[in-house]
This record gives sequence, C-alpha cells and structure tokens, in this order.
Amino acid sequence: MKTGNTVSVIHILDQATVNQIAAGEVVERPASVVKELVENAIDAGARSIRIDITSSAKEIMSIQIIDDGSGMSPADALLAFTPHATSKISRIDDLHHIHTLGFRGEALASIAAVSRVTLTTRLRDAGEVTGTKVLIEGGELHETGETGAPEGTTVLVEDLFFNTPARKKFQKSKNTEIAHIHAILEGICLAHPEISFRLYTNQHEQLVTDRSPRILDTIARIYGSAVVKDLIPVNLSLPFMQISGYTSRPSLSRRDASRILIAINQRYVSSTIITGAIKEGYGTLLAKERFPIAFLSLEIDTGLVDVNVHPTKKLVRLSREKEIARAVSEAVKTALLSHDLIPDVAAPSQIYLEESCEETATVPDLSYDFTAAAPYGISEALHSGTVMTDRQLRQTELPTGMVPLDAKLPLMEVIGQFGGIYILATTDTGELVLIDQHAVHERILYEQVIARTGGDHRSQELIVPVILDRTLQETAILRDLLPALAREGFVLEEFGRDTFLVRAIPVVLGKLEDTTMIDEMVSDLVSEEPVRSVNTRERITRIIACRGAIKAGTVCTREQCQRLIHQIRYAKNPFTCPHGRPTMLRFSRTELDTMFKRT
Ligand code: ADP
Ligand code: MG
Repeated sequence: MKTGNTVSVIHILDQATVNQIAAGEVVERPASVVKELVENAIDAGARSIRIDITSSAKEIMSIQIIDDGSGMSPADALLAFTPHATSKISRIDDLHHIHTLGFRGEALASIAAVSRVTLTTRLRDAGEVTGTKVLIEGGELHETGETGAPEGTTVLVEDLFFNTPARKKFQKSKNTEIAHIHAILEGICLAHPEISFRLYTNQHEQLVTDRSPRILDTIARIYGSAVVKDLIPVNLSLPFMQISGYTSRPSLSRRDASRILIAINQRYVSSTIITGAIKEGYGTLLAKERFPIAFLSLEIDTGLVDVNVHPTKKLVRLSREKEIARAVSEAVKTALLSHDLIPDVAAPSQIYLEESCEETATVPDLSYDFTAAAPYGISEALHSGTVMTDRQLRQTELPTGMVPLDAKLPLMEVIGQFGGIYILATTDTGELVLIDQHAVHERILYEQVIARTGGDHRSQELIVPVILDRTLQETAILRDLLPALAREGFVLEEFGRDTFLVRAIPVVLGKLEDTTMIDEMVSDLVSEEPVRSVNTRERITRIIACRGAIKAGTVCTREQCQRLIHQIRYAKNPFTCPHGRPTMLRFSRTELDTMFKRT
C-alpha cells in the first residue's frame, strides 16, 4: 500500500480472518465443538441434551446437539453468531460472579467461522408457533427464516475445518477424536447429574445418563456399578467452600490421574493443584505412582474463582488456592480413614480347570511351615527369635489411654501364621483376614515415630558406639543428612576420613543387640534416590519403620501375633504400610464359597 512516498505495511485484518484466528483458540478439535455446544445447552437450562456424532471410516462428519432449553428469539438466533455477543454478562464486574459456563460470546462465532452451522431454535414457553433457522458457512450467513421446530435449540455442525486445511490436517484419527469427545462428556455429565445426557455415534448409543439428584447414579451409569462399591463419600463444609463427591478405596487405583474428575461450581475443570491435593489426602495409603479414582465437586465463592484464564475455560485460577487444596486433602483423608479399607479379595473368575475333579483320598501337600509340634499352627515354644521379637513388639506398645478407632477395623482373632510372614485371623463377622506381619509392624512403628515430635526422649545412647565405614560419595550424602538424622534421634559423629561413629539411636528401635540394623538404615538412606514429593524427615521415618519392624520370616507366637493385631488397632491408618502397600487382605465366606464352587 503506497501513500505518498511512505509505504505502510500494517493493515487491519478483515472480520472473517479475525474470527478464524479467534476460532483457533476455542475450536481446537471436534471435541471442543461438543464441549461448547453442550455448555450452551446447559446454560440455556436444558433438562435433557442429546449429542449425535456421525463419522465416515476416517473422520468425523457431523456433530449435532439437541437441547430442550430456553431456545432463542429470531433476533437472538442471528445475533448469537456475532463475535462477543452473549446474554450471560454485561459488564466486567459480572466476571466476578459467573454462574454460567459461557460468558465470552465467542463459541458460536468461532465454530461458524470454521464450519457449516445450521441452527434451529424456538423459544420455550413463549407461545410461538414457529421457530427460526439460521445457516452459516465459514462465518457467512447463507440462509435465515422461519421453520417448524420443537422448543429448545438444535445446532448441527458439518464440514468442520473445511476452510482451515492446516487445522484439519492436525486432527488425529477418528477414534482418538471420539475418545476426546467421550472424555469431555464424562466430565460434563458428572458435573451435571441433574441433566440427562445421551451420546450417539452413527446412531449407536454410547453413553446415557438419567436425571438424578445423586452423582452416584451418574457414576454408575458411566463407569459401572462395580466402581461404585469401592467409592467412599467425601464431604466438607467451610464458610467459603463446600466439597462433595466420592473417592476410591486405595484398593481401586490407577496408574494415571485420568479418572480424577473435578468440577468447580459445576464446571468440569482440569486442575493439577486439586488433583495433587486429592492424591496428597491418601498419604501413605497409596504408592507414589498410583492414583485414585475420584469425583469431587467443589462449590466455591464465585469471587474466589477466576474462569477467564483461557478461551476454553478448562483452567481456572483460584484465590486462597493453598487453603482450598489443604481442605481437599483433609476432606479426602478424613473420609478414607473413617472407613474400613481392608481390601476384599474377589474370587478369581476361574481358578481351576472346568472338568470336575473327583475327590480322592490323597493327602494334600501341606507345604505350610506350621511347626509340626503346634496343632494350631503357632509354635508356642520359645525359639531363638522370640525374645528379640518380644522386645521389638514391646517397643511399639502404644501408650495406654489411647482409644482404638474401632469403627475402622473389625475385631480379629489369630488362628495361625503362614510362611513366617502372614498372620491368619478371623474377624468377629466371620471373615478370614491375612495380615502381613512386617507391613503391620512397620505401620505401627511409623506412626509412633511421627507422633513423637520434639523432646529428648527420642534418643538413646548406645553403650558401645557403632562404627560406620562409608564410601566417599556416601560420606558426602550422609554429612548433609546429619542434622535431619539428629532430629529423629540418631547421633552420628564424623570420625576420621569416611568413618562415622553412631553414638545414639531413636528410642523406638529398642535395645539393639544386632547393630547391623544401623548399618542397613544408613545404607538405605544414602543409596536411595530421593523422591521429590517425600521430604527427608519422611524418608528417615520410613526407613526407621522398615528396618525396625519385625521381618518377614520371623516365626511369631500366637501371643505375639495377637499383640501385633492389637497394636494396629491404634494406628490412624492401619490399612497400608508407609509405602502404600496393603497390610491386610480379607476373604469373606461368600468369596471363599465361590472359589470352592460351593454356591
Ligand atoms: P457464550 O456462551 O459465551 O455466551 P456463545 O457464542 O457460546 O457465547 O453463545 C452466544 C449466545 O447465544 C449465548 O450467550 C446465548 O444467549 C445464545 N445461545 C447459544 N446457544 C444456545 C442454546 N443452546 N440455547 C439458547 N441460547 C443459546
Ligand atoms: Mg457458550
């Protein structure tokens, strides 16, 4: 462009180009279209929403959303496609009190800019006899007029990205796109159990939810009722926030966080902070690489939630974020630890060949190491380990006066020990429980160490200091850890090059006869790769618990087993060891009967 002798290179883009650029942010893929249109239907007060997808072998051909919401007047039906046209906010202040899913007035304009949209709509309860039809292609109005239409709105989107070949090329396979649509709809359905959703692809029903006041019904519809039985309700009420929903028993976990669904003010959002807080609530109930299944709905003062972070509104910014996260963790933790979390052992679908096997008189191979002399599987006779085990158990005798959390654990009576590892017990309700003796003792020790904060009673001097020789590298690591170790009751002194003197150890470890335990603990500490989420105190505590606990392979007397079971009753979390592995498993009579085909 030439004006005089100056050359202007800057010009204002035409509206169609502007719209296409804007569309790039809102409409990333077919699933974004579904999300925006379904959200519009929800904002319009729909009670039932139907989504129809058609596809060819390779790609998605059309997306149609039918709602029974408010509908639009003929004028609004046209205006709705203008960029920044919205009925949901009027001024900037309204952004602080958003109760609708939309508010930017961008979605319809953006979708219409990159596809062919046919909208039919009729106002609800307005006594109108006809509706309005609007056809827009690539942002250009092609047709508008009266039409017969049910109350509510139907939006049909075809030829998505026909005029943006680059975007079209970037679309993944049809199945990936459909998977995205599913994922988005699952989140939306769970955030809105009060609405009935139906999803069809090529006329085949994919997902149906019924209107229900209970999110549990929606969860059952989407994920099956098997999941529901492993969910625990989470509820917390604070002045500025309400938390409600469900989270899974630790026995039901996944390798990724994709089944943690969070709704904030009924908006399905993705929030690493809340996801992290939920995981945090499990503490040592879950191994670090496992994630629960959770559906949490947070109702937070709208003034504390900024949804205007990104055009897709999937991210939100929270004021008092730390406080909110802490509350979520607490709510999850409280919910979990007020339930009996012993995993039930489900009968495997098939454990032996289908042919019926005749019962024979052959004596089964009893390879259990029940001591022959003890008819009930427990050696009552003293053996070399017993005194030592007694001493270890005495260390973890919890202070009297503490109340066991009876609600969580059934009363258990020992019937035997298996393999020097597992304690067999029956519950007062007639179930069989297998208990990992090391894991249980580890948990008891762990909680004791955690509970002992401050005070010098934590350390006991060794009569003869133990000498530790470490490599150069280990020495360096250990030197850094000395203050942290001292806080937990280990007094170590450097003693010449690469050598340390251990002068005192934590009281919980008891009177050590075998000092190799100290060497083992320090080895654990210096060799272990530190995990970022686990702080040094926690690491040291876990190592003390692990090394101080009675080992697998230790034959225990019935009395010792019973003492362990008694002690675990006082634990805040009796269900997993500090690393998140289960401490016990339960077999119900019914399950055993099923396994034996007695039913
Ligand atoms: P936003 O949702 O941010 O307001 P949209 O572009 O998605 O922007 O929609 C523009 C306007 O069109 C909405 O504010 C609403 O008034 C109207 N609208 C869109 N979809 C529907 C629908 N399904 N039913 C009734 N009104 C709708
Ligand atoms: Mg919208």
